[in-house]
This record gives sequence, C-alpha cells and structure tokens, in this order.
Amino acid sequence: MAVAGVLALQGDFEAHASMLHRAGAEAREVRTREELDAVDGLVIPGGESTAIGLLAEKHDLVEPLRKRADDGMPILGTCAGMIFCAARVDGRAQPLLGVVDMTVRRNAFGRQVDSFETDLRVKGLDAPLHAVFIRAPWVEEVGSEVEVLAEYDGRPVAVRQGAVLLTAFHPEIAGDDRVHRMFVEAL
Ligand code: GLN
Repeated sequence: MAVAGVLALQGDFEAHASMLHRAGAEAREVRTREELDAVDGLVIPGGESTAIGLLAEKHDLVEPLRKRADDGMPILGTCAGMIFCAARVDGRAQPLLGVVDMTVRRNAFGRQVDSFETDLRVKGLDAPLHAVFIRAPWVEEVGSEVEVLAEYDGRPVAVRQGAVLLTAFHPEIAGDDRVHRMFVEAL
C-alpha cells in the first residue's frame, strides 16, 4: 500500500488521515527529514501558512521538501498548504517552498466572507465537488506550466503543476474523498 505523509507541523493535519485511508493509502505524520524520506507523497494541510513555513524552516525541512518535489514526489496542498507551495505571495514576505509557478493572495475572499461553501466543477471529476473555503487564498496568476482545475468567481482555486495538486478549499472536511483519490492515484 502506498504511504502518504501528512506534514504535521501546524494546522488541521489529523483530518487528512481518514480521507487518505478511504482513498486507499496508509497515512503517516511527517515532522522530520527521516519521516519525509519514508513516504511516497505528502499532504500539506490547511492552517496558518506563515506558521507552517517558519516551523518547516526550524525543522530543516524546506530544502528536503523542495528536493522531493523536484524529484516528482506527489504533493497535495490545501489552503495554507497551497500558499506554502506557491512561488510568490501577494503581500508580506513569508517562507515559501516555491514549487508551483504562481502568485497567491492570502485571505483573498475578504473578512466579511470568512468562510463559505459551494459546489465546484473540477476538471477530471464528473460531478461537482462540495468545497469548503475557510479564510481561503485565491490564485492571482499562474505560469505556463500550471493547469487550472477549478475556478470560483473567475479566480483559480484548484491547480496542478506536475505532481503537485493544490486547492484553496478544504477537501478533507466535506466528506468527499475524490481530491484525495486524485492524489493517491499519483503515488
Ligand atoms: N488564512 C490562512 C493563511 O493565510 C489559510 C487558512 C486555511 O488554511 N484554512 O495561511
């Protein structure tokens, strides 16, 4: 069985494990380089992207994560995980992995719409996906290597570059495992 790591530095990493099981993978928490070396792919969860980035630096995980991504390791990044994977953030500088050629804007849907739910059409899925957005980013612009899989209000909210799949929403909490299946199929 493929082994899916979940970066467990900060955020809602626990919610991903049951989705990964449902999607047919073994789930393991990753906090060290050795743990990263032992997984076939990695979920980077939602939470606070600045905290995830600073903790990744503190745990000496930034370069190893970039190296695994360069070597083609599948990654699923959700919400703060999406931000952390981006090359550029519109606003104050923060640690980023820079593995997807795009600019993101944090908390982009505005304070008054802190969180919302909607049914999204996602490329590769035949029926709409119920998506939960919580203080979500949107994607401002993407490079030519990036495929947009879903948009909301004209803004990309799910993208893929190579084996890195990113969503601005939280696929781990809506009870639908199809995004995790897309990730697990690539392991
Ligand atoms: N607003 C958070 C950030 O900017 C992301 C929120 C989330 O992951 N649900 O990092």
